[in-house]
Amino acid sequence: MNTKKRFWRCHVCNDIHFGVKPPEYCPTCGMRNAFVLSDRGEGVRLIQELKGKNVWHCAECRDLHLGAKPLSLCPSCGSKVKYGAMDREEAVRSTGDADSALDTSEEMLKVWDEFAERNGRIKVWDDRESVKQLSVGVLENVKSKGLRYCPCRVTTGDPDKDMKLICPCNFLAQQTWKEYGECWCGLFVKR
Ligand code: SF4
Ligand SMILES: [Zn+2]
Ligand SMILES: [Zn+2]
Repeated sequence: MNTKKRFWRCHVCNDIHFGVKPPEYCPTCGMRNAFVLSDRGEGVRLIQELKGKNVWHCAECRDLHLGAKPLSLCPSCGSKVKYGAMDREEAVRSTGDADSALDTSEEMLKVWDEFAERNGRIKVWDDRESVKQLSVGVLENVKSKGLRYCPCRVTTGDPDKDMKLICPCNFLAQQTWKEYGECWCGLFVKR
């Protein structure tokens, strides 16, 4: 088991968790198994820019959580002590030795597969070559726009709207999901 703290992001509401494991239920949107492995670049950017959420930390193991509400159970150490509020920049500094970036297609495919496996209700499109192409698009967006934006939708320039385009997005709310059981780009499909 990996015991290193890493960044995780809720694909529904963009909460960020920094810890060995993500919470089973997101404290902000309530969704189960909604966290996907992220990296420091994305995690720090959201901690700095999502001002509608606060940073909380576990008094026992120093896991961090960016969200509208504190966690009542720490996923990493199991502490039931409520998370306390923490200064945003101090939180960023405390993650200074965190993992390196997820910056290859192979890593992205692994992250998406693990996310879908943990979620249980979704799977990654089985056309691996097309999935690889989508990962290339996501990684190009990281280079040109700084975040892992959707490979087949255009960013607007409005940071609040664009945050909703980080991949994986909240595809469960998309019309294509409701009608055809797949995200807008076909990357994730219903099991
Ligand atoms: S529509 Fe699919 S590919 Fe695009 S951001 Fe959402 S999950 Fe990713
Ligand atoms: Zn959430
Ligand atoms: Zn803890």
